[in-house]
Formats: sequence, C-alpha cells, structure tokens
Amino acid sequence: MKTMLAARFHEHGERDVIQLEHVPVPQPGSGEVRVKVHACALNWLDVGIRRGPQFGAVPLPLTTGVDISGLIDEIGADITGWSPGDAVTMYSLVTCGECEFCRAGEVTVCPQHQIIGEHMAGGLAEYMLVPARNLIPKPANLSHVEVAALPVVAGTAWHMLITVARLAAGESVFIPGAGGGVASMGIQIAKHAGAKVIASTSTPEKMAQASELGADHIVNYRDADWVEQVIAATGGRGVDVAQDLVGAATWADSLRTLARNGRMVVCGSHSGREFNLRIPQIYHRQLSILGANGATYNELCQVLDLANQGALRPVIDRVLPLSEIREGHRILEEHDHFGKVVMQIA
Ligand SMILES: [Zn+2]
Repeated sequence: MKTMLAARFHEHGERDVIQLEHVPVPQPGSGEVRVKVHACALNWLDVGIRRGPQFGAVPLPLTTGVDISGLIDEIGADITGWSPGDAVTMYSLVTCGECEFCRAGEVTVCPQHQIIGEHMAGGLAEYMLVPARNLIPKPANLSHVEVAALPVVAGTAWHMLITVARLAAGESVFIPGAGGGVASMGIQIAKHAGAKVIASTSTPEKMAQASELGADHIVNYRDADWVEQVIAATGGRGVDVAQDLVGAATWADSLRTLARNGRMVVCGSHSGREFNLRIPQIYHRQLSILGANGATYNELCQVLDLANQGALRPVIDRVLPLSEIREGHRILEEHDHFGKVVMQIA
C-alpha cells in the first residue's frame, strides 16, 4: 500500500501530541479529488483543535490544516471540470446545501457545517481529499506558499469588515493586533475599501510592518493611553468600526475606541470567552456588536482575485518544513510572528 507523511495527533494536549506518521494515501470517492499538497498555512484553529475539543468533538487521530495550495493528483468518479495536474486551493466549509441559510447563500451560519481540517482530514500531509465543489483554481500570479497564506485570514477579514460591518469609504476602522493573520489582511482590505485605518501592535518593528501594509496610524498597545491615542487619531470622535479577534482581553478597549453609532465586529475569543459588559455603554452611545463567522465560497474567490491582481499582499512570517510542525504551533502560541506561518510540503 502506498503511504504518505501526515502530521497527526491521537489525543488532545500540548504540542508534543503532534506526530509525523506514515499513513495510507487516501483514495478519492465519488465527487472528490486527491490533492498533492504543496503548502499548508497554520491558523489559530489548528492550535485550538489540538488543545481540546472546545469546538465540539473531532475525529481522532486527526490531521488538521485548512489553508492549502497544491496540484490535483487524482480525481474520483463523477467529477467534471477538473483534471489531474490542475493547481488548486480550497474553500474549507462543507455545508448541507439544503437549510434556509444555505439556500439564502449564508453558508457560514449553516447549522450542519463542517470544516475540512477539523471534522475531516486536512492539509498538513502530503496528500488530502477535497470535495470537488470546494475547489478553487489557484491564483496564477502567486506561489503555492503565498496562496496557502490567504484563504482563512483574507476571507475572514473580508466577511467581517465588508459583508458584516459594511465598512464604507471615508469611514475609520480600528484593527488591533496588526501582526495577526486576519488583522494584517484587515488593514489591506480596509484601505482597499477607502477607509482610514488605525492599527495597534506591541513593538516598533511590528509598527513599521503595519505601516508598510497601509495603516494610517499605529499605536503601541503597551502605552497606557493607547485608546486615547486611537480616539485622537480620529479627531476625538472615535472609530466607526472596530475589528476584534482577541476576545475577553480586548473587548472593553475595543468598545472604548468606538464613535457614537460605532460597530464592533467580532470573530474569535482565544483570550477568553466571557466578558462583563456594562449594558448602558451599548445603548447610551448606540453601539452595535456584530458577530462574523468564516467566509463564503464567493467571498473567498473575490479576495483571491484581489490578491492575484496585487491589491492584497499575502503576509508571511515564516516558511517551515512539515517536520517542524511543533515549532509552527509554538510560534502561534507565543505570538512570535507577523503574518502567516506556512508549512511547505512539496
Ligand atoms: Zn445548510
């Protein structure tokens, strides 16, 4: 039997549960293709799933990895429009296609949705299976590593800022933690939309990198008065939109940056899931708190197209071989990066 290398864990736990193992190369079923993975980027999701079943049960042993770029290696039955050798990336949500949300095109809230790389084997392996309807042609002007750095972070940032928060030209947006993957895409997408961007980060080096991505003002969140600095950058008014990906540790400050009628759009809670909200601050200043989850297939195609045209730049901190998968998780857990950590597999 033909085998391949895959990064897997058989139980939840610290980084040392991740093992590189030889496993059978999967055979594509009806409607599926097998992709030879060239690059797979890490996301906070990979760390969260490995640590514990906080998002619900996952099948063990599991190979995670939702952001891939590679070449179709073999096609299953009933596939039209794709051939071996085609360069592809993928949309990672597998939805029911039948519920009221799927029928309305709002697939990110499908109650049945599953994620490739969470509920089924993902791309931190030499080969993986992908349903043909999840395939997207690889943007031709970008390398496999660059493409793998985009789907989750660019799709999520677009869905948060443009679709859910309806950020418009001339508005201002606060994007904290500029070194994070979604934040580094959020800065570029907000500038593309014609907004004024105020970002925060923690070191002079990361402040310079945020500036290169197009942020108009950058504050250092280690300064005691950084919220006042954000507000001052809007002429004392506060921002129209704050993008919060961090959770309990940042909600209070993200809300303080908002102008009256401001919107805080949220996706992610890795610093904590519960927050003590002072309700009057929401209605006195007429604030909105908006949840965003993932991105749709069409949104992902749109951001990949922007990247292919050069309007969005993949932000890559490091490229590592699959043998350094535990180091990749360490970098994410210790926030030791600006942009994506990408595993190069072929
Ligand atoms: Zn559905």
